[in-house]
This record gives sequence, structure tokens and C-alpha cells, in this order.
Amino acid sequence: MEAANGKEALAFFKENARPISAVITDLRMPVMDGLELTRTLRLDPHTRDLPILATTVMDYSEAEESALNAGVNDILAKPYKPGVIRKRLANLITLRENAATISSIKSDTLTHVFTREYFYTLITSTLFENPNITYDIFFLDIEHFDLVNGMFGDQTGDEILQLTADVFSKAVGSMGFCARIQGDQFAALTVRHHDQLTSICHTISDAINTFDIPYQLNIRFGVYPITDRTIEPRHMCDLAKMAAKSIQDQYGKIYAFYDESFHQKMVDEQLITNNMEASLSREEFIIYYQPKMDMAQRKIIGAEALVRWQHPKLGFIAPGRFIPTFEKNGFITELDRYIWRHVCADIRRWLDKGWQVPPISVNVSRIDLFSPDLGDYLLKILADNALPIEQLHLEITESFFVSNVDFVIDQVQHLKDQGFIIEMDDFGSGYSSLNFLSDMPVDIIKLDMMFLCRPAHQGATESIINFVIQLSQWMDMAVIAEGVETEEQVQMLLDFGCRYGQGYYYAKPMPRQKFETLFIQNLKAQTPDIPENSLVENNLKYTMPFPMDSIPYIEIEHYLANAPFGLSIQTKDPGNGKIKMLYVNRTLCKELGFSPDVFIKLSKPDLINLTHPKDRPHILDNIGQAEQEQRPWKVNIRVKSEDHKWVWFRAQGQPAQNNRIYITLRRLTNASTISCGVSTRQAAGDNSSREPNP
Ligand code: C2E
Ligand code: MG
Ligand code: MG
Repeated sequence: MEAANGKEALAFFKENARPISAVITDLRMPVMDGLELTRTLRLDPHTRDLPILATTVMDYSEAEESALNAGVNDILAKPYKPGVIRKRLANLITLRENAATISSIKSDTLTHVFTREYFYTLITSTLFENPNITYDIFFLDIEHFDLVNGMFGDQTGDEILQLTADVFSKAVGSMGFCARIQGDQFAALTVRHHDQLTSICHTISDAINTFDIPYQLNIRFGVYPITDRTIEPRHMCDLAKMAAKSIQDQYGKIYAFYDESFHQKMVDEQLITNNMEASLSREEFIIYYQPKMDMAQRKIIGAEALVRWQHPKLGFIAPGRFIPTFEKNGFITELDRYIWRHVCADIRRWLDKGWQVPPISVNVSRIDLFSPDLGDYLLKILADNALPIEQLHLEITESFFVSNVDFVIDQVQHLKDQGFIIEMDDFGSGYSSLNFLSDMPVDIIKLDMMFLCRPAHQGATESIINFVIQLSQWMDMAVIAEGVETEEQVQMLLDFGCRYGQGYYYAKPMPRQKFETLFIQNLKAQTPDIPENSLVENNLKYTMPFPMDSIPYIEIEHYLANAPFGLSIQTKDPGNGKIKMLYVNRTLCKELGFSPDVFIKLSKPDLINLTHPKDRPHILDNIGQAEQEQRPWKVNIRVKSEDHKWVWFRAQGQPAQNNRIYITLRRLTNASTISCGVSTRQAAGDNSSREPNP
């Protein structure tokens, strides 16, 4: 565009929506000369950085100074060559555009602190220019920020980030400069002042928490004191971040220093990563098997395949050390598929020897669930080895079910639809709620070993185990307890109705050959199967969950209705002071041969009349004492059946409010032995019931 003087030129900037890339102006012009035009353009923020090229016929050197002072970028003396002016103009425009790009990538568009890339270059130059000052990388992370976005929306999330950047850069002040590393993570390079760290961290955290939302934002800080200046700035930030992450979800900790052990961990990860592929091709990953037991019958009912890494130089490496790394770098999928292929080949070989092989379970990493062909791949290796689908169980870890819940449920459902039997591994180790169980399409629950590791006979732990077992049984899921190490644990689990277990008490994971030997021994030693619905099953399956005060009454009724034999009573009936039956479930009536109506009639006026006269003083004694102390009780009793026989039960009661007692019964004698009084086959290890005696 061409203008006759400066004023006309200025009008272009007002009228034209199109951006103007550069201006060539004569210095001498009527109305408004080039110097004035330049000065005016430099005052307006929109044209402040515009390239301006001045031309002049005056003595070049004379004009130069005043033009440059006014703000022109370059001067050309007339007459000029078009080629030269075009080139100079192009250079000016390119320079200007580069500068614009740099300033836009210098600061983060949302929070206006430095961007990560620019931050790294600033760190390098600052460290270089100030060799005698000691610095830290100071890292800030908002915990579970995705939750905040989810709960309050992205707009609020953005505002919180802006506030955070603001608060953080003010706190850092003249001690350094800060940047947004990514998402909700910020970092600063600061001059070292460790004595003030605690108060600085709290000040920042408090200021961010002034944001008006009904949610406490947990801010964690990590500090990497820069000792080695040759480390790349990006990596320094990683180290500070590691420190912040090391205290994630820890109550009462707001900052942590980077520790050498973190570095060791990284080195370790690197070593593992460098060696994994070669090791897989050299078949240095081997499979160990650990039997799963039917604890009531001491019989192997399955086995879990567990990987081991036997490296020629690094030695024996436990899965806890390499699986997390493989899950991070994705190698786990390759390794797991290798394991599954070998497990299927093993099963095929055992079947070919004519053995009755129980289901073998393999671990499926959460990462494997992201492969779209997971189910098809498994089906293919089963087909390659001509194995039925029930032969291979899949263990999927519960803790993963916490995040991406819907995705996981879909994936697991898909596997189930394809016919796989799914075991929920490490149940109880994560954050899942019991509700979650009902959405999760699993067949078997593996109770995390942490339940058994806790100090023995801790009331709370026992009642949780008991409750989980009850719940899973209602939902028709089998339970396998992991980490069974002692005889007492076996007894407790059996008592609670958990029949299956896996753990060092029976066997540690072992190499294939050893497992084969054990397996053959077990096959030979097996007693004939106790028939279905035998007393062991019936007797052991249901016991009462404690403590029951926390469970609403209606649920207890529901529980009693689902237990084989359950009833609730009221002692000291206000009418007559006797024992009144409040509720009885159908199965108990049926077991004794009565219709519920008849049983209720017979229970009046005093339920105690249905028990053996010799047992009564003992029963009343027990009930009285337990009520006084508000504790559960257990007692063996005989109850009269419709055909006038005495049937032995183990009764468990739990006192509740208003002289109520909830009772479940376990049958101690089976139908065919009622008349003999005492069963020959008792609950394994339950000494008190071996010789029923009130
Ligand atoms: P997991 O699947 O829960 O396996 C059970 C772990 O508990 C095994 O540890 C086993 O050796 C150990 N264990 C069994 N009984 C007892 C006991 O009585 N006491 C104690 N203290 N521990 C017992 P391991 O073999 O070190 O495996 C650790 C975890 O590594 C496994 O936990 C599983 O999550 C993972 N893992 C192992 N092999 C594989 C694999 O092939 N693929 C994948 N994706 N993960 C695997
Ligand atoms: Mg497992
Ligand atoms: Mg487990």
C-alpha cells in the first residue's frame, strides 16, 4: 500500500484489518515526516514492534542517528537497488517474527509464568553466570488435580492454576524464577534458603487454599538441591518431582528433599530396561508355580504361575523389582504373553501325561488390558495347545480397578463374555469399596495377604475378613486367601468359611519340576472327595460377621435369611421374662423338619424348651455373661428335630441392643449320623467341635 505522507500512512493502520508486516518510509515528507510517523507507531502497542525501514537522500551518516533514535530498524540511502531493499526487508520481517514466536513460547498462555522449555534454558544460563551461588529446584504439585477438574469443571481448574502460578511466583520473588512444567506442576529455580522452607511451603499452600471451593487442595513440594551442575535441567526437575511424589498421600508431610536412593532407583530401572529384551530372547525369565489349596481337604485345587528373572550377571531378581518398571515402559505385555504361552505349553504336557490338571492362573497386568486383542490372543494360545478355556484363570489386580473404572469393567466384561474365569487379585489392598464388587464381573476373589499379615487375633481384622467372605458368598464368588503362613490362620479362615488358600504354609512358589513332583505326590495322597453338599461345606460356609452394631438391623435379617441357619431372639421377653424368637430363617426350620409356622409355635412360650435339657443351664449361663459383657459367644447345643432326634449345632451369638441376640448355627452332625449323636468327620481343626459337649 502506498501513502503520500505519514498521516495517510497512519490512516491505513486504523482502516485496515489486515496485518501489516513492515513499513518503508521516506524520512522527508510533507504533513508528517518519517521520524514523526515512526515515533507515533512506536507508541501504539499494536505497531510497537513493526519493522520500519527508512530511506533518505540526505547524507546517510547525518540522518542515521536521529532515525535510529526515533525507532527505525534500518536505513537505506537513495537511490536504492530493488533487490537490496527486498532482501533487507525480508530479513527484518523474519527477525521480527522470530522474536514474536520466542516471546510467545517464553510464557505459558494460561498462567503467564515461564514455559518449561524456556525455564530449562534460563536454568542453564543462570547456573553458568553464577558459579558461586547455590541453587535448588523447587517443585510444586497439586495432588489429584484431575479430581478437582472433574468435580468443579475445567474453568475452575484453570482459575486454580492461575492462582497457583501467581502465589508461587510471588513466594519465589527475587530468590529465583518459576515455570509451569505441565498440567498442575510448577517448578522454580531458587537461591538456597532451607531454613525458611517449611514456612514458605505452608504460606503457598494456605494461599492456594483461599480459592473458594469446598475441597482441600493438597499441595506437595519437592526440593532438589543442585549439587551436580552438569545434570540437564529437565532431569533436575524430574528429581525434584520424584521427591514431591514420594510423599504423595502422606498425611502431615508437605515437602521432601530428593534423596540419593531415588537416583539409585532410576539407575536400577535403567539397568532393568537395558537388559530386559536380551534376557527374554535368552529365555532367562522362568516360571514358578505356587499351589492353591482346598484347606479343608488339603488338596491342590489350582496353581498360580509367577515369573522369576534369572540373569547371568545381575543374579536372581524378584518380580517386585522389575514388574513396576516393565509396566512403566510397556515391556510387561511382551513378558506376560511369553509367560502365558509357556504356562499353556506346560499344562498341555501335564495333560498328555494323563494327569488331572487343575486350573492354572496367570497374572494379567493392568497394562495388558489396553491391548485390544488381549482376549483373542489368549484364545489363540489356548487353541494352539488344545486347552479348554476353564484351564487358564486370569488374575487381575484389584488396585487397578480404582482408576479408569469404566474402562476396566468393560475390558474385564469382554474377557468374561469370551468365557474366561476372572480372579480379582489382591482384593482389599486398594481403595475399592465393597459396592464395587457388585459391578465387577469376577468369579473369584483373592483376599490380599495384608489381612493375614496383621498382628494375629486383631478383632477388627478378623471381622473384616469374615465380612468380605460372607459378602462374596452371597454374590456367588469363591474366595481364596493369599499369604496363608500358619496353622492358626488356616483354622481361622476355615472357621470363617473360607475354604481355599495359598501361601507359604502349604508351599512357596517353586520351579516347574518341583511343582510336578509335589503335584504327583498330592494326586496319590488324595483322599476320595467328600461328596457335594457334605457337612464340611455346610458347616463351614457361614458364620456371623462381627461387629454387628455397625450393620443396620434390616441387613442382619437379610444376612440371617441367607445363612443356612440363622435366627434372632430376645432374651428377657418383657411379657414373661423368657426367650422369645424374633426371626428364624426357612432353612433352619427345614433342616429340623418343621414348617416355619410350626417351628414358631413350638418356640413359644420359651425357645429354650427346644434345646436339650442338659444343655440349658450352660446356654443360659453363656448368654447371660455375654450379654453383660456385650461380647459374642459360641456354644455347642442340641436342638430337637421333627422326628424327635437331637441335632448338634455350634451356635454363635452376638448380643445387640434391647436384649436382642443374633445367632447363626453350624451343623455339627450330618444327617446320616444324627442318631449316633457325634459326627466322625468334623470341621478340620475345630477342636471345640470335635467332641460336641455343651
Ligand atoms: P501376586 O499375584 O499377588 O502373587 C502373590 C505373591 O505373594 C507372590 O510374590 C508370592 O510369592 C507371594 N506369596 C505367596 N504366598 C505367600 C506367603 O505365604 N507369604 C508371603 N509373604 N508371600 C507370599 P511374587 O512372586 O514376588 O510376586 C509379586 C507380584 O508380582 C505378584 O503378586 C504379581 O502381582 C506380580 N507378578 C508375578 N509374576 C507376574 C507375571 O508373570 N505377570 C505379571 N503381570 N505380574 C506378575
Ligand atoms: Mg496374582
Ligand atoms: Mg495377589
